Amino acid sequence: MLEIAQEFKKEANYINGEWVKADSGETFEVHNPATGELLGSVPMCTNVETSRAIDAAYTAFQTFRKTSVKERTDMLRRLRRLIIDNQESLAQLLAAEQGKPIAEARGEVRMSASYVMWFAEEARRIYGETIPSPWAERRIMVTKEPVGVVGAITPWNFPSSMLARKIAPAIAAGCTVVCKPAEATPYSGLAWGMMCEKAGIPAGVVNILTGDPITIGEELTSNPNVHKITFTGSTRVGKILMAQSVPTVKKISMEMGGNAPFIVFDDADIDRAVEGAMASKFRNSGQTCVCTNRLYVQSGVYDKFVEKLAAATKAMKVGKSNEEGVVQGPLINEAAVAKTEEFVQDAKDKGGKVVTGGKRHALGHGFFEPTVIADANQDMMFSYDEIFGPVAPVYKFETEEEVVAKANDTDFGLACYFYTQDLGRTFRVMEGLEYGLVGVNEGVITAVEAPFGGFKQSGVGKEGGHQGIEDYLEEKYVCIGGLGF
Ligand code: ADP
Repeated sequence: MLEIAQEFKKEANYINGEWVKADSGETFEVHNPATGELLGSVPMCTNVETSRAIDAAYTAFQTFRKTSVKERTDMLRRLRRLIIDNQESLAQLLAAEQGKPIAEARGEVRMSASYVMWFAEEARRIYGETIPSPWAERRIMVTKEPVGVVGAITPWNFPSSMLARKIAPAIAAGCTVVCKPAEATPYSGLAWGMMCEKAGIPAGVVNILTGDPITIGEELTSNPNVHKITFTGSTRVGKILMAQSVPTVKKISMEMGGNAPFIVFDDADIDRAVEGAMASKFRNSGQTCVCTNRLYVQSGVYDKFVEKLAAATKAMKVGKSNEEGVVQGPLINEAAVAKTEEFVQDAKDKGGKVVTGGKRHALGHGFFEPTVIADANQDMMFSYDEIFGPVAPVYKFETEEEVVAKANDTDFGLACYFYTQDLGRTFRVMEGLEYGLVGVNEGVITAVEAPFGGFKQSGVGKEGGHQGIEDYLEEKYVCIGGLGF
């Protein structure tokens, strides 16, 4: 599988425009989650190399901040072209280390290209303001400036597009970045270094390093020359990074965990709801922060919905990313499989009924059977904890008020979905749900044009949309007097 991908498989880190090893010479291994096969090793960097990368980014920032919008837009356009031209190699590399079906990997790479294009366009729209002055002889302006060096930490579930959402707005705004991709999927992160190099993005503007998350994270959050931290990952780690960022008062953007409810009312188009539930639950084998975690189905259609969902779930082909017709890959590692097993066991112990799936898949390694659990209740673990695996618990409810309260009964507030044909209910429920992303009669809603971000403990700030660039900018108020009026 990796033959095509070799050209993008870098085993060094990209710091200040150079490909380097860790000072210690240490490395860590990367494995294919579908087979356990060793793919290779990448540098085990620490705070030492991170500090060096921050210095490089800080120096580069002094020049890069002065580049014209046109120069930065041209760089991003070249970067996008490279992603498109190398889509297949990048997708193969991504699928090998992450495990997702090749069609999903291709889709993710295309999404990365779309983010780069979007922010290339947004760079031209970083508008300031003039404000009517309260003084006859003075004028007031508000200008926008790049925030500075950005520290970016990303997860393994979307190893390419999560970096796209951070690198592209940073370049568009005139910032420089130090990125740390996840340990499980470093190659797709390092590929960004190769592409930035080929796209002629100046040395030090984009730095990618792999290694020890704790010491790298500590350096990124404590170094005074880093002015912003952007993170996508678990709420647990996000809170650590937020706390660590306090002493140096960094700007922060956090995309953290979710616990998405998916609500089906009696009046919904059931087939459409099943289709949406399948897409929103099982995409990336349930390993996305916007994946449905809890399905709430009204009593009048409950049995019919469970039956149809179970049939569709059973029909999914599980396998390796490059096999024909495969729609479900493995989970990222053994810990993820064990955790999924624990969710199922807990549900069984508390009265849940496994309708289909429910155990490790015969393929072994990271594979788990796509699972539907009926008779779910609020005491079960997945009512308050993110599953991040292919398990669909289905709860029964009676009234609109009841289900909105249950859907909101969580510390998280990232994505939610509901299906109804009633216009009044659409608005009541949409306004009642405490979530940053709402899908109405749609199960997959992410788009580069729209702001992605959570309420409550799911995050701070937005990625994508015109809002996505704001987090990379500072606003400067300028009062000009002595104008001779
Ligand atoms: P997941 O549970 O999805 O793996 P994590 O939040 O653990 O999510 O990981 C997301 C990213 O955060 C990864 O790049 C990981 O290496 C990094 N990370 C994990 N722990 C820390 C930490 N203490 N400091 C900084 N980064 C961390």
